Amino acid sequence: MPSCDMCGAQGKLFRVLVEETEMYVCQKCSKFGKILANPVTFIKKKVVLEKSAKPEPVEMIVEGYSDMIKKRREELGLTQEELAKKIAERESIIQKVEISQIEPSISLARKLEKFLSIRLVEQYEDKGGSLSTKSKSAEFTIGDMVKIKQRR
Ligand SMILES: [Zn+2]
Repeated sequence: MPSCDMCGAQGKLFRVLVEETEMYVCQKCSKFGKILANPVTFIKKKVVLEKSAKPEPVEMIVEGYSDMIKKRREELGLTQEELAKKIAERESIIQKVEISQIEPSISLARKLEKFLSIRLVEQYEDKGGSLSTKSKSAEFTIGDMVKIKQRR
Protein backbone atom coordinates (compact mmCIF):
# COMPACT_ATOMS: atom_id res chain seq x y z
CA MET A 1 0.00 0.00 0.00
CA PRO A 2 1.19 3.50 -0.70
CA SER A 3 1.70 5.56 2.38
CA CYS A 4 1.95 9.21 3.19
CA ASP A 5 5.44 10.63 2.86
CA MET A 6 4.94 12.72 5.94
CA CYS A 7 3.07 10.64 8.49
CA GLY A 8 3.01 7.22 6.93
CA ALA A 9 -0.76 6.94 6.89
CA GLN A 10 -2.13 4.68 4.24
CA GLY A 11 -4.90 5.44 1.84
CA LYS A 12 -5.62 8.16 -0.67
CA LEU A 13 -2.56 10.21 -1.38
CA PHE A 14 -2.21 13.72 -2.72
CA ARG A 15 0.71 15.00 -4.69
CA VAL A 16 1.77 18.16 -2.97
CA LEU A 17 4.59 20.61 -3.03
CA VAL A 18 6.07 21.04 0.44
CA GLU A 19 8.90 23.58 0.59
CA GLU A 20 9.82 23.00 -3.05
CA THR A 21 9.76 19.26 -2.60
CA GLU A 22 7.21 17.10 -4.29
CA MET A 23 5.67 14.60 -1.93
CA TYR A 24 2.86 12.13 -1.79
CA VAL A 25 0.93 12.72 1.35
CA CYS A 26 -2.41 11.90 2.93
CA GLN A 27 -5.31 14.28 2.99
CA LYS A 28 -4.49 15.42 6.52
CA CYS A 29 -0.91 16.29 5.61
CA SER A 30 -1.79 17.84 2.31
CA LYS A 31 -2.80 21.06 4.01
CA PHE A 32 0.88 21.63 4.82
CA GLY A 33 1.72 21.91 1.21
CA LYS A 34 0.41 22.99 -2.11
CA ILE A 35 -1.69 20.38 -3.82
CA LEU A 36 -0.40 19.66 -7.28
CA ALA A 37 -2.75 16.98 -8.38
CA ASN A 38 -5.79 15.07 -7.40
CA PRO A 39 -5.43 11.86 -5.43
CA VAL A 40 -3.08 9.46 -7.10
CA THR A 41 -5.05 6.72 -8.64
CA PHE A 42 -3.54 3.37 -9.02
CA ILE A 43 -4.64 1.86 -12.22
CA LYS A 44 -3.84 -1.75 -12.61
CA LYS A 45 -4.22 -2.64 -16.17
CA LYS A 46 -4.33 -6.23 -17.12
CA VAL A 47 -1.88 -6.93 -19.82
CA VAL A 48 -3.45 -9.54 -21.95
CA LEU A 49 -0.99 -11.51 -23.94
CA GLU A 50 -2.90 -12.83 -26.83
CA LYS A 51 -1.95 -16.31 -27.70
CA SER A 52 -1.81 -15.71 -31.40
CA ALA A 53 1.57 -17.18 -31.98
CA LYS A 54 2.93 -16.43 -35.38
CA PRO A 55 1.92 -19.28 -37.62
CA GLU A 56 4.75 -21.28 -39.02
CA PRO A 57 4.78 -21.32 -42.76
CA VAL A 58 3.68 -24.70 -43.95
CA GLU A 59 5.95 -26.28 -46.49
CA MET A 60 4.38 -28.55 -49.00
CA ILE A 61 5.58 -30.52 -51.94
CA VAL A 62 4.09 -29.16 -55.13
CA GLU A 63 1.66 -31.18 -57.14
CA GLY A 64 3.13 -33.03 -60.08
CA TYR A 65 6.53 -33.29 -58.44
CA SER A 66 7.14 -36.75 -59.88
CA ASP A 67 6.82 -35.66 -63.50
CA MET A 68 8.87 -32.53 -62.86
CA ILE A 69 11.72 -34.53 -61.37
CA LYS A 70 11.64 -37.17 -64.07
CA LYS A 71 11.45 -34.62 -66.89
CA ARG A 72 14.29 -32.53 -65.50
CA ARG A 73 16.46 -35.57 -64.79
CA GLU A 74 16.02 -36.75 -68.36
CA GLU A 75 16.79 -33.27 -69.66
CA LEU A 76 20.07 -33.45 -67.80
CA GLY A 77 20.70 -36.89 -69.26
CA LEU A 78 20.98 -38.59 -65.92
CA THR A 79 19.76 -41.99 -64.89
CA GLN A 80 17.90 -42.43 -61.63
CA GLU A 81 21.02 -44.02 -60.21
CA GLU A 82 23.21 -41.11 -61.27
CA LEU A 83 20.80 -38.57 -59.86
CA ALA A 84 20.62 -40.52 -56.62
CA LYS A 85 24.40 -40.49 -56.36
CA LYS A 86 24.61 -36.76 -57.09
CA ILE A 87 22.35 -35.89 -54.20
CA ALA A 88 23.51 -38.71 -51.93
CA GLU A 89 20.23 -40.58 -51.89
CA ARG A 90 19.29 -44.15 -52.67
CA GLU A 91 18.23 -44.98 -56.20
CA SER A 92 15.11 -46.67 -54.88
CA ILE A 93 14.03 -43.39 -53.34
CA ILE A 94 14.32 -41.60 -56.67
CA GLN A 95 12.41 -44.39 -58.37
CA LYS A 96 9.55 -44.20 -55.88
CA VAL A 97 9.42 -40.42 -56.02
CA GLU A 98 9.28 -40.42 -59.81
CA ILE A 99 6.30 -42.75 -59.86
CA SER A 100 4.57 -40.84 -57.06
CA GLN A 101 4.82 -43.83 -54.80
CA ILE A 102 6.33 -41.69 -52.11
CA GLU A 103 6.32 -38.00 -51.58
CA PRO A 104 9.81 -36.65 -51.03
CA SER A 105 10.58 -35.20 -47.64
CA ILE A 106 11.18 -31.46 -47.53
CA SER A 107 14.91 -32.01 -47.15
CA LEU A 108 15.02 -34.36 -50.13
CA ALA A 109 12.89 -31.98 -52.14
CA ARG A 110 15.29 -29.16 -51.28
CA LYS A 111 18.22 -31.20 -52.56
CA LEU A 112 16.37 -32.00 -55.76
CA GLU A 113 15.34 -28.38 -56.18
CA LYS A 114 18.91 -27.24 -55.86
CA PHE A 115 20.36 -29.88 -58.10
CA LEU A 116 17.68 -29.82 -60.77
CA SER A 117 16.91 -26.09 -60.57
CA ILE A 118 13.19 -26.70 -60.22
CA ARG A 119 10.63 -25.64 -57.68
CA LEU A 120 9.31 -28.50 -55.59
CA VAL A 121 8.46 -26.88 -52.27
CA GLU A 122 5.78 -24.31 -51.75
CA GLN A 123 5.28 -22.31 -48.61
CA TYR A 124 1.84 -21.61 -47.32
CA GLU A 125 1.47 -19.02 -44.66
CA ASP A 126 -1.58 -18.88 -42.53
CA LYS A 127 -2.48 -15.21 -42.52
CA GLY A 128 -5.40 -15.63 -40.18
CA GLY A 129 -3.71 -14.70 -36.94
CA SER A 130 -2.28 -11.30 -36.26
CA LEU A 131 0.10 -10.16 -33.62
CA SER A 132 -1.23 -7.54 -31.33
CA THR A 133 1.17 -5.33 -29.52
CA LYS A 134 -0.38 -3.97 -26.43
CA SER A 135 1.48 -1.18 -24.81
CA LYS A 136 2.47 -1.54 -21.22
CA SER A 137 3.46 2.10 -20.94
CA ALA A 138 0.13 3.27 -19.58
CA GLU A 139 0.55 1.02 -16.63
CA PHE A 140 1.21 2.69 -13.33
CA THR A 141 1.62 0.26 -10.53
CA ILE A 142 2.43 0.46 -6.87
CA GLY A 143 5.84 -0.82 -7.84
CA ASP A 144 6.39 2.28 -9.97
CA MET A 145 5.22 4.42 -7.10
CA VAL A 146 7.82 2.88 -4.82
CA LYS A 147 10.51 3.57 -7.40
CA ILE A 148 9.46 7.21 -7.61
CA LYS A 149 9.60 7.54 -3.85
CA GLN A 150 12.99 5.91 -3.61
CA ARG A 151 14.46 8.29 -6.15
CA ARG A 152 13.94 11.18 -3.82
ZN1 LIG B 1 0.03 12.15 6.32
